[in-house]
Amino acid sequence: MLGRGLRKEFPNPKRIGCPGAEVLKKIASRKMPLSEVEVWLDHLGSCSPCYNDFSQFQSGYGRRQMRRLLALAASILILAGLAGWALVPKQKKPLATETAMLDLRNRSIPRGTKPNPAEPPLGVNRAAAHWSILLPFGSNDGPYDIRLLAGSGELLVSTKANAKLIDGVAVIHISVDLSSRSPGQCVLRLTRNGSQESSYVVELR
Ligand SMILES: [Zn+2]
Repeated sequence: MLGRGLRKEFPNPKRIGCPGAEVLKKIASRKMPLSEVEVWLDHLGSCSPCYNDFSQFQSGYGRRQMRRLLALAASILILAGLAGWALVPKQKKPLATETAMLDLRNRSIPRGTKPNPAEPPLGVNRAAAHWSILLPFGSNDGPYDIRLLAGSGELLVSTKANAKLIDGVAVIHISVDLSSRSPGQCVLRLTRNGSQESSYVVELR
C-alpha cells in the first residue's frame, strides 16, 4: 500500500533535489553504508520518480542475486559430489552425503580469537559429512587452516584446505565427522596462510 501511494503521489517532473541514478543503484544494491543512505531516505519517501527508479533497481538486483546464488549452489553440489565420489573406494560404511553450507558471506571478518558477539551462531547438522564454507565477501582464495573447538576447548576438527573462488565467493570444502558429538556451541577458526585468525560461533545440532 505504501509503495503504491509513493509511486504516484509525489510527482517531481523537474527532478528537483534528486540524487541521481548512481546513488539510487548503490542504495538498491545495499552497497551504501546506512549512515549515507539515511540522508536520502526523506527524499525517496517524497519523490515518486526516485521511488520508482529505486524499486526497479532493487528488483533487478534481487533477480541477479538469486541467479548468482543458484549458480553458486550448483557449483557446490558438483564439488561435494566429486568429493563424495573420491571417497567411495576407501570407505566401507554407508557414505554420508549430506553437505552443510556455512554461509559467512555477509559476516564481518572478525580479527582475533573472539567471535563477533553481535552475529548469531551458524547452525550446522552434526550428521553432515561435508562442509561448504562460504567465506565473507572480499575474502581471498588460497590455503586456509580450519579448526573447530568445542566449548570445553577440545579440538574437534583441524584440517587444511584451499579456498576456491566460485562466482566471486571464496569457498572452502572440507570433510568432517561430527556425528558422534553432542549438540552445542563450538568456535570455528579460520586462518589464511598463517595470517590473523577469524572466529565464528557454530551451533552443532
Ligand atoms: Zn527524486
